[in-house]
Amino acid sequence: MKFNKLLDTMPIYEAGKPIDLIARKYGINKKNIIKLASNENPFGTSLKVITKIKSSMNEMFRYPDDSMYELKNSLSKKFNVNKSNIIIGAGSDQIIEICVQAKCDKKSTVLMANTTFAMYEISAKKVGAKIIKTKDDEHNLEQLFDLYEKHGADIIFLCLPNNPLGECLDKNDVYAFLKKISKKTLVVVDGVYQEYASFKDKNKLINASDLITKFPNCIYLGSFSKAYGLGGMRIGYGIADKNIINTLNKVRNPFNVSTLALIAANEALKDEDFVNKTIKSNFNEMLRYEEFAKKKDIEYIDSYTNFIIYKFGNKFDSKILSEKLLKKGIILRDLSSYKMNAIRITIGTNKQNTKVLEVLNKLLK
Ligand SMILES: *Cc1c(COP(=O)(O)O)cnc(C)c1O
Repeated sequence: MKFNKLLDTMPIYEAGKPIDLIARKYGINKKNIIKLASNENPFGTSLKVITKIKSSMNEMFRYPDDSMYELKNSLSKKFNVNKSNIIIGAGSDQIIEICVQAKCDKKSTVLMANTTFAMYEISAKKVGAKIIKTKDDEHNLEQLFDLYEKHGADIIFLCLPNNPLGECLDKNDVYAFLKKISKKTLVVVDGVYQEYASFKDKNKLINASDLITKFPNCIYLGSFSKAYGLGGMRIGYGIADKNIINTLNKVRNPFNVSTLALIAANEALKDEDFVNKTIKSNFNEMLRYEEFAKKKDIEYIDSYTNFIIYKFGNKFDSKILSEKLLKKGIILRDLSSYKMNAIRITIGTNKQNTKVLEVLNKLLK
């Protein structure tokens, strides 16, 4: 059978390995497995959200409110924008896909950093767009601009902070860059880790309302999957000029987000304490991974997210190490699929991190 030719060269998204799979494969009790591979919230979901979902179960039979009034209302207050500036998706992944479908075809060009969120490239390849990447792995605005001048771009993806590397550009540098970009280019500012970055350093803070007012060709992306602990609910959002949102809504399928996901996200926004606790713990625990790296002479990238990268150079092999860790019930993210000899570790709870560092200490001898 013949399929769409575009799929022949399409990279496949490598998801963090599920706990059940490792339990089956290595015969390990599920309870003893630590998964720090998908940047999920180590504290799980806010209890307030869980209680709300339990009492909302009887709403399941209904199709969701396709205007998504309640959640848009809450988001519009949080971000100081109008409801007409907001689109909601089944994860911000879906918004990325909608942006690409709305803006690109086979003749389009999409520009991004060399090592950045895999869904940008996957979405662009699906529509046959040409992908251009910088030489540097991390975001380099000079290189991005040189490539922009040379090739143009229908979409530029900026991941602030960047997954899987963890680095983050300063807001001022981003704004200086955006000033030089034509209003015909859609710039996707992926801010799904902004809660973390802006806590660590105010210079990283991108204010969505300010961004879209100054640069009406930008869309800001946020997610409930990381700091808000709702990865399994699949819900995220985009904030942009209403002309952009109106067009994106033509591509969005009706009822693209489930009734319970909308309820969960709306409730999650009310529990700021949970998010603050998550972020404070994250950066306290991150210090332990930094100290460990220094002690072991392992290179790492200063991270503005809920994960940290260890780069091994020619000291260790990330693939072999990851396999050894799996056998011990620890799931981390090997970055060899990004052509990097490195691992990405999602920052866990204090207890999880103790265990991971203990095992790493033994394996990295
Ligand atoms: C996790 C992630 C997303 C997608 O999150 P959703 O779960 O789809 O909301 C988007 N961008 C980056 C950089 C991510 O790390």
